[in-house]
Amino acid sequence: MKIVIIGAGPAGLTAAYELLRRTDEHSVVILESSGRIGGISATVQYKGCRMDLGGHRFFSKLDRVNEMWESILPIQGKPSRYDRLTESTHTLAQGGPDPDSTDDVMLRRTRVSRIYFKDKLIDYPISARVFGQLGIPTLLRAGCSYIHSRFFRLPEDNLENFYINRFGKVLYSMFFEGYTEKLWGKHPSEIAADWGAQRVKGLSFIAASKDMLSKALGRKGSEETSLIGEFSYPKYGPGQFWECTADRVIAMGGRIQMGCCVKRIITENNAVKSVIYEKDGVSVCEEADILISSMPVKELISGLNDVPNDIRQAAEGLCYRELITVGILVDRLRLKNTTRIKTVGNIIPDCWIYVQDTGIKMGRIQIFNNWSPYLVERPEENVWLGLEYFCDEGDDMWNMGDDEFADFAAGELVKMGMIADRSDVKDSHIERVIKAYPAYFGTYPEIGRITEYLDSIGNLYCIGRNGQHRYNNMDHSMMTAFQAADNILNNIKSKDNIWNVNTDKEYLEEKA
Ligand SMILES: Cc1cc2nc3c(=O)[nH]c(=O)nc-3n(C[C@H](O)[C@H](O)[C@H](O)COP(=O)(O)OP(=O)(O)OC[C@H]3O[C@@H](n4cnc5c(N)ncnc54)[C@H](O)[C@@H]3O)c2cc1C
Repeated sequence: MKIVIIGAGPAGLTAAYELLRRTDEHSVVILESSGRIGGISATVQYKGCRMDLGGHRFFSKLDRVNEMWESILPIQGKPSRYDRLTESTHTLAQGGPDPDSTDDVMLRRTRVSRIYFKDKLIDYPISARVFGQLGIPTLLRAGCSYIHSRFFRLPEDNLENFYINRFGKVLYSMFFEGYTEKLWGKHPSEIAADWGAQRVKGLSFIAASKDMLSKALGRKGSEETSLIGEFSYPKYGPGQFWECTADRVIAMGGRIQMGCCVKRIITENNAVKSVIYEKDGVSVCEEADILISSMPVKELISGLNDVPNDIRQAAEGLCYRELITVGILVDRLRLKNTTRIKTVGNIIPDCWIYVQDTGIKMGRIQIFNNWSPYLVERPEENVWLGLEYFCDEGDDMWNMGDDEFADFAAGELVKMGMIADRSDVKDSHIERVIKAYPAYFGTYPEIGRITEYLDSIGNLYCIGRNGQHRYNNMDHSMMTAFQAADNILNNIKSKDNIWNVNTDKEYLEEKA
């Protein structure tokens, strides 16, 4: 069979890798519209530095995902020179490679993240230090509002109520409200609760407090994804992992065609026959026995023939949020490291900082030095930041010129006290990411009908994040690809297992 895959992001590459790893009976071709491997999980090289389009943790509870990660980039077995410098005590893999003598290695990293709220940095996940950071009166108010939320449950028909039920109003407004509103461009009260359920599935006031207590007692913290204290990270960022995967796909006989944007999908009798893609302004037809798509559902439906009108309209109303990441290079931060955590160059230890204050437009700051010092040219002397802004394609932020945006972003860093002056910025680089977040508003409530329609096309498999219009992380996106490969190789007709990844159904199965 000829299996065509749309997209060389984590989902498309995992599908190709898994199919080729298990059989050489089929031909596999990936069509990728951009010139870059890795989709949203790519790492961009800018002069001597590298940046993610938003930092990407490699953490998963899914064994198949961990196995693939480790088989392509093994976890470090020896401390790197930077680990020795900072006296890091990560869990290392026995017999694993030494990051200073090879590039093909997954580093172990300690997660440090805080929340910037009302000019203060507050530990997130919360630690015993929050007593000092917030003060007793605020903590008492937070405690009372949490108790109130336990007795007076709100209907979980929107994201605000979902959070308040789990944290109380005070903590919700400190830790979730501002960031969520920036991310989606809407107040949480206007967003379906589903996003909260997927993002912070097992998280609650109790889970966060237990995590704090365990860590204070020197025990291991929670395994809840949003609280974990350690994660893996490729030496040169997630893009390195996906480039290695692409090399394996090609070595196993797969084809990856870059710059090929799929525009139309031709079906007959509920089966895909071919896809039409454009390359350098020329339309090319590629026949397909099986089509695996990680392209956005909205565009997939608009490219299909004979789609019923109601489904076409529903898909047209799906919404997305765009991301702009501004890489900023400075030689020092104004903010000093007042923690006990040792860092290269003694900078603040955070991997990222959530910016809750609505007076600042930035949603999050990445400090790439703390993800991997190898991402930064001379990390002892340079601090390489990634500032994340959320917007809509075509709005004022999206249309701002690069220089103007970099200047605006630097001004926000000054306002926050992160740097002393705009002139501290030595260099900057801007990346605009289209459809970074599939939204849970617009016609999202009709997603069930859309997926039902897509399922009626027997040889079409929808995988990944935008491919399923779901807030899937890399591991979920990969899992949808594994499930699709299983179904194709075992001739399983139902696609429920693919759609069930990262849903309540999967969660309930996990719990059981
Ligand atoms: C800021 C941010 C931070 C994140 N952090 C994490 C994290 O810490 N950990 C984690 O696990 N996940 C994280 N994620 C999620 C992760 O990026 C996604 O889950 C993952 O990239 C989705 O993979 P995908 O292959 O489904 O889609 P994508 O990465 O979007 O890849 C899809 C590919 O398809 C191509 N394509 C689209 N349309 C067409 C077409 N018509 N024709 C041909 N090709 C096409 C695109 O160019 C792209 O290369 C983060 C995401 C963001 C935005």
